[in-house]
Formats: sequence, C-alpha cells, structure tokens
Amino acid sequence: MNSSSFLDCCREPRLVRIRTLSESSHDLAALQRCTSCAAYWLYRFHEYTDWASGVDDLTSWFTRLTDEEGTRILGAAEHEQTDLSFVRRRTSWLNDRDGVRRVKGAPHQPWS
Ligand SMILES: [Zn+2]
Repeated sequence: MNSSSFLDCCREPRLVRIRTLSESSHDLAALQRCTSCAAYWLYRFHEYTDWASGVDDLTSWFTRLTDEEGTRILGAAEHEQTDLSFVRRRTSWLNDRDGVRRVKGAPHQPWS
C-alpha cells in the first residue's frame, strides 16, 4: 500500500522528511512536509518486538500540523527540546498491522 494514500492534506500527498526530531533503534520522530501542498506533518514511528512470538509490531502516526507549528518545529535550535505535547489531543492517522485509522491523538514522546 502506498504509505501516503490515506493522508488528507491535498489530492496528491507526497511527504518528505525535512527534520529528524528524535531517533533511536525503535523510535523515530520527524517533521515532514508535503511537496504538493506544503502542509507540515509530524511523523512518529515505533517498533515493538514481542520476543516471545518473534512478531514485530510496527506503528506509525501522522499528525497534521499548522503552518505555525511546522515553522516553529523547523526553526527550533538543534538540541532544543521541541514541545510536541499538543499532538496528544490532535486527531491523527495511525497505521499498524491492523490497517490505517483515525485516532484522537498521537504520542508526543517515544513510547519505549
Ligand atoms: Zn499535501
């Protein structure tokens, strides 16, 4: 499945990563921007491995940001802790092995 086919910023969403906010072996948070309509998105990825069953659980969240939020995150100093707490109450897209669905909020920090 095209990973961006459910995104709803415009008719032909195409996201590129413009800034990595945090990254570890199992978590990633990045600021992304649509090259078609210039909308900002917050992307978060989490991988959870169930060692008992050997199953990898991969979860992605996509949260649409306002221009003001995107600009603020993009302009933050390199090691500044960016406040992302607002995404906890922001309707987001969640994509995991059960498919894509709307959720009422996204995690604002790594899950692990
Ligand atoms: Zn777009």
